[in-house]
Amino acid sequence: MSPYPHLLAPLDLGFTTLKNRVLMGSMHTGLEDKAKDFPKLTAYFVERAKAGVGLMVTGGFSPNIEGWLYPFSSKLSSRFEVGRHQKLTTAVHDAGGKICLQLLHAGRYSYHPLSVSASRLKAPINPFTPRALSGFGIRRQIRAFVRAASLAQRAGYDGVEVMGSEGYFLNQFTCRRTNRRTDEWGGSIENRCRLPVEVVRQIRAEVGERFIIIYRLSLLDLVDGGNTWDEVLYQAKAIEAAGATILNGGIGWHEARVPTIVTSVPRAAFAFAAAKLKREVRIPVVATNRINRPEVAESLLARGDCDLVSLARPLLADAQFVQKAQEGRADEIITCIACNQACLDHTFSLKRATCLLNPRSGYETELVSSPAPKPKAFAVVGAGPAGLAFSVEAARRGHRVTLFDQAAEVGGQFNLAKRIPGKEEFDEALRYYARQLELLGVTTRLSTRVSAQTLAGQGFDAVVLATGVTPRTPAIEGITHPKVLGYADVVSGRKAAGQRVAVIGAGGIGFDVAEFLVQPSPSPALDPARWRREWGVDETVRSPGGVEGVQRAVEPPARQVVLLQRKAEPLGKRLGKTTGWVHRATLKDKGVELLSGVEYRRIDDQGLHVTVNGADRLLEVDTVVVCAGQEPLRELAPALTAQGLSVHLVGGADVAAELDAKRAIRQATELAFRL
Ligand code: NAP
Ligand code: SF4
Repeated sequence: MSPYPHLLAPLDLGFTTLKNRVLMGSMHTGLEDKAKDFPKLTAYFVERAKAGVGLMVTGGFSPNIEGWLYPFSSKLSSRFEVGRHQKLTTAVHDAGGKICLQLLHAGRYSYHPLSVSASRLKAPINPFTPRALSGFGIRRQIRAFVRAASLAQRAGYDGVEVMGSEGYFLNQFTCRRTNRRTDEWGGSIENRCRLPVEVVRQIRAEVGERFIIIYRLSLLDLVDGGNTWDEVLYQAKAIEAAGATILNGGIGWHEARVPTIVTSVPRAAFAFAAAKLKREVRIPVVATNRINRPEVAESLLARGDCDLVSLARPLLADAQFVQKAQEGRADEIITCIACNQACLDHTFSLKRATCLLNPRSGYETELVSSPAPKPKAFAVVGAGPAGLAFSVEAARRGHRVTLFDQAAEVGGQFNLAKRIPGKEEFDEALRYYARQLELLGVTTRLSTRVSAQTLAGQGFDAVVLATGVTPRTPAIEGITHPKVLGYADVVSGRKAAGQRVAVIGAGGIGFDVAEFLVQPSPSPALDPARWRREWGVDETVRSPGGVEGVQRAVEPPARQVVLLQRKAEPLGKRLGKTTGWVHRATLKDKGVELLSGVEYRRIDDQGLHVTVNGADRLLEVDTVVVCAGQEPLRELAPALTAQGLSVHLVGGADVAAELDAKRAIRQATELAFRL
């Protein structure tokens, strides 16, 4: 009996059968733009096809130059571009997979001066103002979509996905927010939907019946001026009638101010929208967003909320997701923790997407593990992300690994991260590593403080020092006052903060600690309905976009918090590109005071004395939490070298500045593949 009978059940589309209900959602990897990167892109898809994904969708390809995401980005408009795709589709088919090409016209989200849209309205997230298309211009865009679909068919794809959500070109026509036209392409919902309906109808006429057309339909625009549920349904039915094979759900425009995919969004928080749609149409419906575990997908499918689930980042995190689920090894899946640090934050900085927890992702041809020709014995000191990643990858190659940590549990800084409200998913990463240590036979010595003497003479070929960091103590008068606490003590629950708190340092940890302090304990973030109320999402979607005019039910803060930094720049400027705004919005909602350009003068019984913009100020707080960065912890290194041991530094022990798990895990993995 399969552990996930609904997830692993085939889906008959009439002319072709998908082997299971997993659709790998479109993600731009950064390998789509140049022909020379196609072999890498091919290897990425082949790895996932071999591991049993039912249907994959490529990153977005524009049907023409106007629709480019940015100059010279991925496009399919000429027969000269077909060859590279042919090699990719052949390799995917040989691996037993199926793949659709996504047609993505960016409209006013195009980051170049040739952009076009329904109306001449600049997007708040783009400096370029689009040109409003004439009726002739609209027909030219339709022809471009049809030609691109025909080229995709010629290239051997099993189908196309037409991107009609997330605020891109087609979505810009369907909503009043961006469509102010008074001709046949604007005004009524029928007119606003004419463009996507014509695109689907004419593609179907061109490609015939035996070709998949997925339409990515915006179920919730999450912006003022978005569509109501009646309008969404009108569009869904018209697209179905026009010949779409599958309706994939899209949630939220890129300019929406409701988080849709970050780690604080509860799992499957938006699946309700797919469930509403499924009741109204006959073709298969795909549920999407924050579905990151097979059991979550299984319960949605078993309840009949959807026919397929879209997994995008979860398949970046683990190419073997489906295979592991099939083989009853779900506890071995690298679960996507929705951090965005190595995928979307990279994409939006025009860097290649990969995964924080799986640096091989997107680097399948470059970061290759092979059995160690001569197995060695390694001592790894420190069981944080770097030490764990090294131990697992080295043991997988056949090395003998002994992992030491003075703490009683593995995880290092991740044990603090998982305690931050909305970051509970970090526990999944620890579950993955703990299971791998067990399966790979890594000898784990916890609650063990090692010295150079204890490691010498034990037959280790080398020591990998992954001892991480120690919090920095800033030189502020009164820093030893009893009201001053370290962030680790506060977050771990070893020490309790008072009701009025100042947080010194506004890096990633300062923000995390501020969020920890304003939330009640236990955190409410895991309750999807409560979370939706907090962000003002109207589940009935009677209000335009599901948000217009909706009162947000923000819970009052559990404490009064001030977050401070010395730099004069806005707080949180250096947080993740796709996640920083959510952290800033959360603190604003909770009334956290953000102070920059601060000079710390002293801490005493009265509180924290600071100077801000030349003015002295007393912050009357009961607690001061220090989050002033870190120093590397590597005092063992010289002593080990003196004992004649070969030492490799990884993670925070190597460079604490800009310490982050992404760099630590990648560095440790590369070292394990090399040694
Ligand atoms: P950080 O990002 O380096 O921030 C340190 C903060 O302390 C800064 O605001 C800095 O600002 C302040 N500071 C530095 N030296 C100080 C001093 N001597 N006295 C007073 N203030 C001082 O370090 P972090 O917050 O500890 O985070 C460490 C790393 O963990 C991050 O770089 C990040 O990679 C990772 N992390 C990421 C996230 C995330 O959400 N992505 C969350 C948690 C942790 P001023 O110098 O301007 O005062
Ligand atoms: Fe998921 Fe983070 Fe990996 Fe992206 S980087 S796939 S969000 S775990």
